[in-house]
Order: sequence, then C-alpha cells, then structure tokens
Amino acid sequence: MKFETNVYEIIKRTPDVKSFRFRRPKGFDYGPGQFLFVTILNEGKKITKHFTISSSPTEKEFIEFTKKITDHEFSVALDRLKIGDWAYLDAPYGDFIFKGEYPRVGMVTGGIGITPLRSMIKYCTDKEMKSRITFLYGNRNEDSIVFKEELDRLEKLNQNLRVIHTLSQPDEKWKGRRGHIDVQMVKEEIPDYKECVFYVCGPPSLVTSSVDILKTLKIPDAMIHSENFPGY
Ligand SMILES: Cc1cc2nc3c(=O)[nH]c(=O)nc-3n(C[C@H](O)[C@H](O)[C@H](O)COP(=O)(O)OP(=O)(O)OC[C@H]3O[C@@H](n4cnc5c(N)ncnc54)[C@H](O)[C@@H]3O)c2cc1C
Repeated sequence: MKFETNVYEIIKRTPDVKSFRFRRPKGFDYGPGQFLFVTILNEGKKITKHFTISSSPTEKEFIEFTKKITDHEFSVALDRLKIGDWAYLDAPYGDFIFKGEYPRVGMVTGGIGITPLRSMIKYCTDKEMKSRITFLYGNRNEDSIVFKEELDRLEKLNQNLRVIHTLSQPDEKWKGRRGHIDVQMVKEEIPDYKECVFYVCGPPSLVTSSVDILKTLKIPDAMIHSENFPGY
C-alpha cells in the first residue's frame, strides 16, 4: 500500500534513537520484521529511505519505524520532523519475518538492529505464541539500550521470552553480562543452540560477526535468517 500521511507521534528512545509513528490506515497489513519506504521533505526536496517497521501488526492504531540519528543528510532531515509534517509511506516489503512458526528461536543483534526483532517479539507475546525465544542484545551502555523498558515488560508478560543484555562499556552498577556477543555467550545462554532457528540483523559489520559466530558453532545456513541495514 502507498499512501500520504502525517507524523502522528515522535518518541525519543535513547540519546540518538527516535521512533516515528503514523496512523495505520484501514486494510494495511504487514508481517513482523518487514520494512517500509518513507519519503519526507528536506528543504522542499523529496528524499526516501527504507526502515524496518518496528511496530507489531498487533498494534492496530499506528505504524512505527525507529531510526538511529546520525549527522548524514536523511537523519538530519528526519531529526527536524515535527508532529503533523507530511510523509509518504510505501509498504510492506521483505521476507525477514517471524510469526511464531518455529518452536525454538535465537535472536542476535546490537543497537538499532533490534527494530525487526522488537516487532517479532511483541507480535509473539500479544498472540501468545509458544515459541521459546532467547534474545541476545549487545549495546555500549545502559542508556544506549533501545526499547529497554519495553523489553523488561515483554519478558514479564511472555514466559517463553528471555532477553540477555550484554554491554561493552557498562558502568560499575551494571550487574548483567559484559563484552560483545561471542561464541561462549551463545553456548552459555542458548545451550540447545543446535535446535534453534536464528534471526540476526543490523548494520553489515554486526550481521557478519554474528553470522560468523553461528557458523563457528556449525549452525547450518538454512537455520540462519539475516537482514542487513546498509548505510552505517
Ligand atoms: C531492509 C532495511 C531495513 C532498515 N531498517 C532500519 C531501521 O529500522 N533503523 C535504522 O536506523 N536504519 C535502518 N536501515 C538503514 C537505513 O535505511 C539507512 O541506510 C541508515 O539509517 C543510514 O541513514 P543516515 O540517515 O545515517 O544516512 P544517509 O543520509 O542515508 O547516508 C547513508 C550513507 O551515505 C553517505 N552519504 C550521505 N550523504 C552523502 C553525500 N552527500 N555524499 C557522499 N556520501 C554520503 C553517508 O556517509 C552514509 O554512509 C535499514 C536498511 C534496510 C536495507
């Protein structure tokens, strides 16, 4: 579906990550993990980019995407957007989708790579899916964890969901895991990793290093779904 719309809500998630919401039109449907093309105006000129839809299809009122704000052209224009500003959305696209079809799932990402996984775990929680999901999420420090409160909430609501945070530069108060996601962490946190289907996404370097970890563990290609966010 392609449609003109207006920004309906903007939510600051971390110091450099913002979510942008638009009213969801009747008849617009998508799979958890799919992406959209958004066009906005930058000094009168139309500019377009693709972003994962970070909302879940179970959230009926709005469609949301979540963007790491950089100092590049598109980010700067997006950062200036205000409630009511014009936008044009074209969606849904992509086959990086999970709707609870596998009994055992591992998710691996860092930073902004959470966006499709947020949609998937919200969907599975709302639909009370039985899939057991272990989500390994790497960030620099506690302030940079995107959707932190929501992940805590979803974990409480969904007994089949475990979220494991690891921080590369935590402060002394942090009681969780430290360092980057590595082979040892996957073995410890997902002991039955051989039975899991994996979902990996984020900027290309993160996807490459995460897929390398899974290959070291001899996870077959067919058990790994991945999505790259080029441009970072
Ligand atoms: C399927 C898919 C899903 C995605 N989902 C998300 C998501 O959920 N969240 C998210 O944050 N990102 C997502 N991305 C990435 C997103 O589309 C952007 O590429 C990314 O956010 C970078 O945008 P930007 O605003 O930093 O830079 P842009 O302004 O788009 O610039 C991108 C690159 O071009 C270079 N560049 C920019 N302007 C110039 C210039 N004038 N001359 C030379 N080089 C230039 C920059 O250095 C940068 O490396 C996704 C990508 C894909 C393909």
